[in-house]
Amino acid sequence: LSTWSTVPAGPPDPILGVTEAFKADKDPRKINLGVGAYRDGNGKPYVLSSVKSAEDLIALENPDKEYLPISGLPEFTKAAAKLAYGADSQPLKQSAIAVVQSISGTGALRIGGAFLQRFFPHAKAIYIPTPSWGNHTSIFRDSGLEVKQYRYFDKKTVGLDFEGMKADLQSMPPNSIVLLHACAHNPTGVDPTPEQWVELSSLIAEKSLFPFFDMAYQGFASGSTTRDAFALRHFVKEGHQVALAQSFAKNMGLYGERVGAFSLVAADEEEKKRLESQLKIVIRPMYSNPPLHGARIASTILTNFELYSEWEAEVKGMAERIISMRARLYDNLVSLNTPGEWSHIKSQIGMFSFTGLTTPQTQTLAEKAHIYMTADGRISMAGLNAHNIDYFSESVSKAVK
Ligand code: PMP
Repeated sequence: LSTWSTVPAGPPDPILGVTEAFKADKDPRKINLGVGAYRDGNGKPYVLSSVKSAEDLIALENPDKEYLPISGLPEFTKAAAKLAYGADSQPLKQSAIAVVQSISGTGALRIGGAFLQRFFPHAKAIYIPTPSWGNHTSIFRDSGLEVKQYRYFDKKTVGLDFEGMKADLQSMPPNSIVLLHACAHNPTGVDPTPEQWVELSSLIAEKSLFPFFDMAYQGFASGSTTRDAFALRHFVKEGHQVALAQSFAKNMGLYGERVGAFSLVAADEEEKKRLESQLKIVIRPMYSNPPLHGARIASTILTNFELYSEWEAEVKGMAERIISMRARLYDNLVSLNTPGEWSHIKSQIGMFSFTGLTTPQTQTLAEKAHIYMTADGRISMAGLNAHNIDYFSESVSKAVK
């Protein structure tokens, strides 16, 4: 009898499973709108030219492959914090932000979860929005936190359930941990407005809640890294001691290089040092130290004036292509007299759109039109381009009629 005879087969990943189905489909019209990776105007993966230039610069230096410190490449963590918090951030200037490199955004959330589980001085529960990125629940549960939810998305308006969200924040026990998507909420594409963020910051302060920001899309949402950092920077300015998970997967197209950072705002430099020492103790038995190459790429871009400008323009380009696809999809659906209200396609932010398509409709689209998306009706806008958007619009219109 095998040692593993009682291990049951697990369910396939709901997002990565969509790609499997797509790959198996032989129809030339097929479209994959499942996975959240940027595609260029021809539907191809995109390596940023700022990234290629950074790699050329790195190659010229012929660097060694020694281990990084446990907390990562110092030039990278410094530049990542500056990008997120802003050069004029008070805690940053006071050297009061503890930062460690992470295995992209997922790893940052995992380090954060493990650190909170070990040191958060109140209930070890984290509240995430309904719905949220599917992996949040698993990451925080595996970190040893209890995962609870707060209202976020209103199915009726396909928008933010702001009143429901505030009511749920109000009724949380004081000192609860609250996960907030800093911008480009995944999967809904629905964000609070700046005014709503200001209100949320006050409410979270009043209730002494602890904000944990997940920022996987800085720059990718609006095209501006500053605008997309509004919520985080406002909270910090208002005195919140935040936790932050950053990813460079989307905004630098460094998906598989696994580049990210986790940070905590401390009271002062002395406290920051204590926090960093404990973050290292969390990381060391998990993976010892982080990967080198991607952090070199990101830090080269972030610290080189020319490359930084080139990168900013490329982030803007990606965001704008996505925004233009939103406009075109909306116009198409309207001119095809598609039943329903579609303005959310245009108002939603970031890589994804929560279309409002039902699970049966998504199944029809896969079977009849070879169009693949997650069963909740979420589409990756980046999968649309001038070549397939008309076919997509017509297929959606038919599926809804
Ligand atoms: N958080 C959110 C909300 C995301 O959408 C993603 C990417 N899908 C991540 C975190 C982390 O991704 P990665 O580990 O590739 O940086």
